[in-house]
Amino acid sequence: MVDRWLSFVRPRLLPERCVLCGAAGTAGRDLCAGCSADLPRLNPVQGEACRRCAAPLPPSSAGAVCGRCLRRPPPHEAAVAAFRYEPPLSRLITELKFNQRLHLARLLGQELAEAVAGTLAHAGGEPPQVLVPVPLHRSRLRERGYNQALELARPVSTRLGIPLAPSLCERIRATSAQTDLPASRRRANVRGAFRANDCTGIRHVALIDDVLTTGHTVAELARVLKRAGVRRVEVWGCARAAAPS
Ligand SMILES: [Zn+2]
Ligand SMILES: [Zn+2]
Repeated sequence: MVDRWLSFVRPRLLPERCVLCGAAGTAGRDLCAGCSADLPRLNPVQGEACRRCAAPLPPSSAGAVCGRCLRRPPPHEAAVAAFRYEPPLSRLITELKFNQRLHLARLLGQELAEAVAGTLAHAGGEPPQVLVPVPLHRSRLRERGYNQALELARPVSTRLGIPLAPSLCERIRATSAQTDLPASRRRANVRGAFRANDCTGIRHVALIDDVLTTGHTVAELARVLKRAGVRRVEVWGCARAAAPS
């Protein structure tokens, strides 16, 4: 309990420190310039990632959409990921998710906000009306004590001035972790797992998640939101893992 309290309070008391090497942070971030340069960033504006699912694209590819999305377009219109899911970034996400290191959400959320801001400035158009963190089932929330997607969404909301709507969707069925299942069973695992609450007046939503993998979870949420009347769904993830074959 004290640990959890400290992890909430510490980031508000101490100056920025690099979460990777402990040096002083730069530009108001918990990251030094050297470690920042080493992070595996994805730049969708430069065509490094698919604009529908955020999968990294081969360097030579001219297209903005990957083959998988061309063959079978996902229900969401766009996706942005700040990073490839690779070390040392993947280690930070694991620490945030499983080891109660909540202060990491500040840095990771700020990085996600910058990636999204760059994409929005490039693509133009209206930003989403609300941010919806991918919900956890109440049993998982009880066990972990927090939803890492909500913690990541907070700095994004502050930076972009888009309100959070964490209760717009609920996870009504506890599911196995997608990463514990073979690719073939992941879609069925999340089918019927979510419910949308009243979406009156909401046309455009961005879902926020920590890691995007095969995308079945966010695709299922996008379907549920669209059935509830939402017209456009974007997916913003801190990191994009390569899809398992
Ligand atoms: Zn550093
Ligand atoms: Zn794609």
